[in-house]
Amino acid sequence: MKILVAVKRVIDYNVKIRVKADQSGVETANVKFSMNPFDEIAVEEAVRLKEAGKAAEIVVVSMGPTAAQETIRTALAMGADRGILVASDDELQPLAVAKLLKVLVDKEQPGLVILGKQAIDDDSNQTGQMLAALCGWPQGTFASKVAIGDGAIEVTREVDGGLETVKLTLPAVVTTDLRLNEPRYASLPNIMKAKKKPIDTVAPADLGVDTLPRLVTLKVEEPSKRSAGVKVADIATLVDKLKNEAKVI
Ligand code: AMP
Repeated sequence: MKILVAVKRVIDYNVKIRVKADQSGVETANVKFSMNPFDEIAVEEAVRLKEAGKAAEIVVVSMGPTAAQETIRTALAMGADRGILVASDDELQPLAVAKLLKVLVDKEQPGLVILGKQAIDDDSNQTGQMLAALCGWPQGTFASKVAIGDGAIEVTREVDGGLETVKLTLPAVVTTDLRLNEPRYASLPNIMKAKKKPIDTVAPADLGVDTLPRLVTLKVEEPSKRSAGVKVADIATLVDKLKNEAKVI
């Protein structure tokens, strides 16, 4: 079985985000980018399935600027076999990404597609669901455990009340949650090997997909500043402040 994994290049989760002066978006110049953390988990799960003999090939796809090749290389160093870069400098919203992935799914015929549950830059949490709908495939979102059986996959999902396990007929779409696994660090020999693994580059137009944005960002604002806390001398002072200043008890 072939597994297709979608990996997005996003601003690194350690970077303190700065909003552009004109409020049109966030500063991306001179900022560290890396693989979306949920997508690292997706790659790790695919590699584990391959190591367990449940998958024969892992293809990783990234869509974005040429620099997204680095994200693909990271996935190849973790154990994926080959990459596809859908090169575009335009904004690619979840619907466009899902449509492009659908064309690649038709071409590559994977038995399973794994995506992150959300990209930490747009926080959309839409692409996997849209892809499943476009393919007419079952979806298991927010996976915290997966088990592949005969022609099916069991996905354990973190829901409000606890854990829910669903069984999907393959081919299917799975999106990863934080507790699915702990992604490995690529070893130096694997980083070197990854340099020789193939990456195909295509443009959205080659895939016949209209990627025009359907949503317009009106304004991006910083969260309002929280005022600093105070240290109180004892419990009596705390209770007094809660009663008379905060007026919450
Ligand atoms: P989102 O719906 O934007 O929150 O993204 C959910 C998931 O879709 C991500 O974790 C990725 O697996 C995939 N994805 C979204 N955008 C891209 C992209 N530009 N390139 C590759 N994968 C993407």
